[in-house]
Amino acid sequence: MEAKRDRRAWLKGGKAHCDPLPAPKEQPRRLVLLGAPGVGKGTQAELLCAKLSACHLSTGDIFRAAKALDPSERTPALTAALEYMKRGNLVPDDTVLALVYERVGCLRCEGGFLLDGFPRTVAQAEALEKLLAEQKLKLDAVLSYELPLEQIVSRLSGRRTCINCKTVFHVQTRPPTVEGICDRCGGKLYQREDDRPASVHVRMDAYAKSTSPLTDFYQRRKLLVSISAEGTPEEIFARTLAALNKKKV
Ligand code: AMP
Repeated sequence: MEAKRDRRAWLKGGKAHCDPLPAPKEQPRRLVLLGAPGVGKGTQAELLCAKLSACHLSTGDIFRAAKALDPSERTPALTAALEYMKRGNLVPDDTVLALVYERVGCLRCEGGFLLDGFPRTVAQAEALEKLLAEQKLKLDAVLSYELPLEQIVSRLSGRRTCINCKTVFHVQTRPPTVEGICDRCGGKLYQREDDRPASVHVRMDAYAKSTSPLTDFYQRRKLLVSISAEGTPEEIFARTLAALNKKKV
């Protein structure tokens, strides 16, 4: 397994850059992960990044990192974005795209990337397509995780995230060894504000309206790979690797 990328350039933007890592042994993969909130995308992203040595580019993590900053350090656009996020609404495309443009160097990461939570609207997918063409980069595949609605709701309400390293647990399906404490770093586990019932409802509506049309968008480009998100994280990961092999990515 390759060393984990530190993602400073992605999380902070601006002039921040990541510690260099040894050159990856394999060809870099450039993937987009799609799926409704709660399908376990974040966990699959972690497993895939460790396996492929790719960088985990999650737009949700940029907002969560901004939340941890002192309010005086946040730009007005970020402060407004956090309000949308808190209610479970999508952050406006202009704000998200400005953050991604500022981090365009991360798309050229030598280990490749896994975009998680971006794009989330067709306008964002079109902007990404343009950005990648400008950078002379191509997506290898778009992995779409699929799960029935009632299972999604149960996953979201049981999800707990580490306050430090962001590792995701679940009270039933992936419990930590000690309740409320992260197995990896000993940090405290918490329930994300947007995993509470009222916000979950809004997020599912936003997904159905804005993000599910992306499966057609990528199907037309022959990039879509559908993966069932039922079962344990390990089972889903095995299915993911099999699907990537089949597509020869
Ligand atoms: P996530 O961790 O990907 O579920 O993102 C958490 C929240 O951040 C979402 O519910 C949105 O409020 C916001 N967000 C993250 N990525 C995007 C995006 N690409 N477009 C709009 N809003 C986003």
